[in-house]
Amino acid sequence: MAFDQDRGGIERRQEVRQETLDMVYNFIRRGIKERATDIHWEPIVDSGEEEIVVRFRVDGILKDIERINHEKTRLGSLINAIKIMATMDPTKRRREQDGRFTFLFENVEYDVRVATMPTILGEKIVMRLMDRNKYCMNLDDLGMSQDIQHCLDDMIYKPEGFVVISGPTGSGKTTSLYSILKHIYTREKNICTIEDPVEVKFMGINQIQVDHEFGMTFVSGLRAIMRQDPNIIAVGEIRDVETVRTALQAALAGSMIFSTLHARDAVNTIVRLLDMGVEPFFLATALTGVVTQRLVRLVCKICKGKGCMQCANTGYKRRTGIFEVLRINEPLRQLILQKASANELRTAALEQGMMPFSKSIEPLIAQGATTKEEVDRVLALE
Ligand SMILES: [Zn+2]
Repeated sequence: MAFDQDRGGIERRQEVRQETLDMVYNFIRRGIKERATDIHWEPIVDSGEEEIVVRFRVDGILKDIERINHEKTRLGSLINAIKIMATMDPTKRRREQDGRFTFLFENVEYDVRVATMPTILGEKIVMRLMDRNKYCMNLDDLGMSQDIQHCLDDMIYKPEGFVVISGPTGSGKTTSLYSILKHIYTREKNICTIEDPVEVKFMGINQIQVDHEFGMTFVSGLRAIMRQDPNIIAVGEIRDVETVRTALQAALAGSMIFSTLHARDAVNTIVRLLDMGVEPFFLATALTGVVTQRLVRLVCKICKGKGCMQCANTGYKRRTGIFEVLRINEPLRQLILQKASANELRTAALEQGMMPFSKSIEPLIAQGATTKEEVDRVLALE
């Protein structure tokens, strides 16, 4: 049921005890039911006893779920079971590994990405639970108001340019990237992506997955795409200057490029790109705009924030996006060329009509959909 059958899971299953498997499956099912995005299996030692703490991340916040001790299961066999499920080598305990498997729950297929890390107390495992449907959301579903969508449409329908989606880790950048691709998808254009990993398979889009073993990097993938008569290119993530430079070349050669970058706001995104060593001239010429985002928790509609069973006593349930949208125009291009400071850029960006976070925050607070504390919490994330 849960193994990828084509990866030899069936034969490997014999090596793992059914009760151990059931325990892992039960936590995954519970995680899905409680809307967890990640499940952590963390080794700890309490009063001399080795234990594993299972933690769920729900709506961006981690919480302890249960402690598993020796009486319930042998901890090593638990870790091994997960590693075998994810087609990792269970004998390699002192180095990090990553793998994946698919898990079917209530007719929805979840992609479970698994990463191990050797800690001084033993291996720690994190599972990321990905519901593939989540990535095919409309811009409305992301929480983008009509104003923001109009502003975004002006940037993303251009025939060439470079649009960066930024935000801290876990702010929904990849979901937005996929939603934008879905929004502008047309058979009249050649749309290609280079991703690490491909999180959702999109019919009608040519997707490449980064594979270091075979020398397929963001840069080599981009170069391959550039020889394929592209119109729209999505680069999963910008991590180094070489990737940005290649992306900018593709933009200047006449393609529309979308990518994500870890940065806290729109101006900081520009500053980070310049700090990485991108030539100001190329950035100023190619950059079309920046969308920065956060996910804010929404007040639980059942208890109105007091805390109830439905929201696991947090007072919040589900999240929505808040956005900052900056379109680059001539005055801003000049400032990028001059490598202006973050403060100068910010002042100019606001003068030139940047749509700040407050535009999406104010209506949410006015409707009581979220709280000032929650907004302050997510805005402080780096
Ligand atoms: Zn509640």
